[in-house]
Amino acid sequence: MKIITRFAPSPTGHIHIGSVRTALYTWLYARSIKGNHILRIEDTDLSRSKPKYSESIVTVMNWLNIDWDEGPYIQSKRLARYNDYICILLATRLAYKCYCTKERLGCLRKTHLTQGLKPKYDGYCRYKSSSYNDPKEYAIRFKTPIDGATTFSDNIRGSISFRNEELDDLIIKRSNGLPTYNLCVIVDDLDMEITHVIRGEEHINNTPRQINILNALSSPIPIYAHVPIILGKTGKKLSKREQTTSILEFKYNGLLPEVLLSYIVKLGWTYVNKEIVNIRNLKAMFNIKSIRRAPSMFDYEKLLWVNQHYINYTSGLYYIEYTYKDLSKCNPIFKYGSILKGIVSLYMSRSSTLKLLTESSNQLYICSSSSISEYMYYLETMDSLATIEPIYKELALTKGWTISIIAVLIQKISISLNITVCNIAMLLRICILGKAESPGISQVITIFNKELLLSRIKKVTTMIKYIY
Ligand code: GLU
Repeated sequence: MKIITRFAPSPTGHIHIGSVRTALYTWLYARSIKGNHILRIEDTDLSRSKPKYSESIVTVMNWLNIDWDEGPYIQSKRLARYNDYICILLATRLAYKCYCTKERLGCLRKTHLTQGLKPKYDGYCRYKSSSYNDPKEYAIRFKTPIDGATTFSDNIRGSISFRNEELDDLIIKRSNGLPTYNLCVIVDDLDMEITHVIRGEEHINNTPRQINILNALSSPIPIYAHVPIILGKTGKKLSKREQTTSILEFKYNGLLPEVLLSYIVKLGWTYVNKEIVNIRNLKAMFNIKSIRRAPSMFDYEKLLWVNQHYINYTSGLYYIEYTYKDLSKCNPIFKYGSILKGIVSLYMSRSSTLKLLTESSNQLYICSSSSISEYMYYLETMDSLATIEPIYKELALTKGWTISIIAVLIQKISISLNITVCNIAMLLRICILGKAESPGISQVITIFNKELLLSRIKKVTTMIKYIY
């Protein structure tokens, strides 16, 4: 039998960390056993679903290289199919029309709550509807078995049982004519021949309801696996912001897709111990049974750390090209060459995201007058010209252009001018980069060719002379 899994997000908000983990697990499982992976957009909650969120689901899946063999199926385009099933359930008296008004249901709920009971539909129309003259509005409810229990074996949690008396006669079609989530899911899972339902644990309560409908239709029951929730790093619930942070924000902030996937797969899957895992290698190894039952903790700082580690230990070429492409789009002066290579290599080990890498590279490459002007107060407090001009001369005269030669040269100037190396470095940073901080100044100097470096220093001396 072909194994078929599905990722079935609702486009009611941007796709976030929990959904991506579900997508990754449904995909990895399908790939691990040469099964099929289906993408299904569950948009029947018309008031909350938005096309822009459906688009962002597809964008995220593409960015992360989580592919699918069928779909995206769109539930709102399958309403006729859901109605077919609702008609079958009605015709076979497995479902019934419910004419209860909002007011009646509201009162019932209140009464249950004041009695300390869990609110539940009392089955009023299950027994009475046949004697009704149909008024305009009605919902359709499924006849949940009254006695017994619904039990299923969850691939992550083991056996889970619900007493049927705890379950409502759930609405499968609302009075506005739209089918509800549980009905759509079972119809789709049947039509798409889903064998394994892997989803978030918030759906555990829906599972017995879905199984009851499938049993009523004498249909096969898929295997279920409910993935535990993701908590924040302190072990508390993720903040609203963390819960809703779009994965695309991670993309724009310069996290690498392979790092994100590697980090996410480990949020709940115990099999690998390495900090960074290659998802392609996992395709053969993944199994649902190794998903942990306990909640896992999401730590953004740790994710950034892993990203930095990855940037630092992988080939620089990719980052040089990335930075070049990114920066040359809006800045035609950007040239692909040794300066860019030097700058990117210098900042690779210091940047936790691609965004920071391109920002630092951009600043170093361009070094605008406005960033230098920010430090004019500093140049004013010391006799900067008397220091910069001799440095300029020494740099112009030197024959060698290596880190060690420049380091010795700065030492020499420090002694002859009686100024600390720190102060010289600071002055040079301002002149060359328009920044007060940077990696080692000798390293920075050698990234630039002599001509460019001297022209930057000259520009600052001219600015100082002009101002004072
Ligand atoms: N659409 C549901 C959600 O986004 C998932 C339903 C399912 O996997 O059965 O939470």
